[in-house]
Order: sequence, then structure tokens, then C-alpha cells
Amino acid sequence: MNRDELRRRLEFYQDLGVKTLYRRPAAARNAEARKAEAGEVEPCGAPPAERASAKAAGQPALILPSLAPDGDTLERILEDIGDCRRCRLHEGRNKLVFGVGNGRSPLVFVGEGPGADEDAQGIPFVGRAGQLLTQMIENTARREGIELRREDVYICNVVKCRPPGNRTPEADEMEICGQFLYRQLSAIAPKAICALGGTAARALTGRKEGVTKLRGHWLEWRGIPVMVSYHPSYLLRPYNQDAKREAWEDLKKVLHFVYD
Ligand code: URA
Repeated sequence: MNRDELRRRLEFYQDLGVKTLYRRPAAARNAEARKAEAGEVEPCGAPPAERASAKAAGQPALILPSLAPDGDTLERILEDIGDCRRCRLHEGRNKLVFGVGNGRSPLVFVGEGPGADEDAQGIPFVGRAGQLLTQMIENTARREGIELRREDVYICNVVKCRPPGNRTPEADEMEICGQFLYRQLSAIAPKAICALGGTAARALTGRKEGVTKLRGHWLEWRGIPVMVSYHPSYLLRPYNQDAKREAWEDLKKVLHFVYD
């Protein structure tokens, strides 16, 4: 890494609210770099696409220290996000949508990004898709004999500001905001995560396949089981009976895994 790249990397950390970086002893750094070059470790920080292209180009993967400070909390993460202007999404934002629910929940749902209703209220999943998600969680739990309300789980998104026109978040937006999602997930340390739709699935698992392929199977984010399922907006479209049935199956799997 040259000086400019190092400066940009440090500024990136500073923007994320990381105020202190510690250098590991040279021997440990060298051992880790050797492992990365040999493809034996998954460096955190670099998105999967970047890692793959760096590897293909024969460049050693960049090793980044974990971004979560010791004893991280949701309050601290929100404070570090502050009046965020780290990416272009802040330009059209009314309210930043951090997350809602039980910060000690064993189950976290991750969506893509706020829509118009969420942007207006600052709360994730409150529009039509959100109402469907709430009904799905509460009705499925009740039918399966599990006592669970929406407020018992934690709900958040990959990006915290509404993308214009509800477009899919771009790679750099996901990388910048994804660091805060990762800190939220590390701080909560749930028993399982449910990724709603392709964007959440990609952000958490790095997998590029579509939701139809990924759903219904357990994947992982840093050792935490991740179930990918359909995004509720997709389920709102007419003629999606099969997807609705599958989403219900996915949710049953998650609920029994977490609460049995
Ligand atoms: N869609 C999402 O992905 N997240 C929300 O919060 C609302 C709609």
C-alpha cells in the first residue's frame, strides 16, 4: 500500500468513528499477510467482489483490523454514525434509519434500505412491506406456538439512508454503511440472522446467486447462521403464491432454530 492509499484508508476509518488503531507486532502481521496471500483467511472489510478481483489480479488481499471497538454498543454505533455524510445517500435523506427492536434479541432481520415511509419516520419496515413483515413474524410465530412480537426481534437494513427512487444501493454505499451493519450485528450477537432479499444476502454472505437459489439454506456471517429469504416487497407483488409459501417455510425454520 502506498502513502496515498494508506491515508485514504485511515481517513475511511476516521469517518467510521474509529479513533485509535493499534499496530500488531511485525511477526503477527507478516504471518497474517502470508495466509491472506495463500487465500487461507477471509480479510474483513474488503467486499467480496474486491477480494475476488484482487485475488484474480494476483494482489495480496488487504488485511483490515476489526472495526468494532471493544464493548461496542448500539448507542455508540449510532453516535459514531452521527449526522452521516459518508456517501451520497445522505443528500436525499429526511431521517436516518438505524434499526428498531430488542437490541438483545437472538434474532435479527436485515433488509436492504429504507423506503419513503421509513425515511419519513426513521424506523425500518413501517411501510407496506414492513406491515407484511410484521404480520409474517407475528402470525407465523403464533401458529407455531412461539410467543413473539415484532418488538422482540431487531430489524435493520444494509444502508441507513433511502436510496433515491428506492434503487438498489450501490457497492460503495453498501461497503461504507455495511461497516455499521456489521457493528450492529456484532454488538447484538444474535443466534441467527434472516437476510431479506438479495442485497442483504450479498452484504452478509458475499454470495452473488439470486435469492431463489440461496433461500431456505443456512449460510453464515462471521459464524452466525444466516437464513436468506424473499424481501417482503417481492411478496407483495401479485402472483407470487409460491414465493409466499417458501418465505413462510424459511421463517418457520428460523423461528424454530432460534426459539425452540
Ligand atoms: N425495505 C427495506 O429493505 N427496508 C425497509 O426498512 C423498508 C423497506
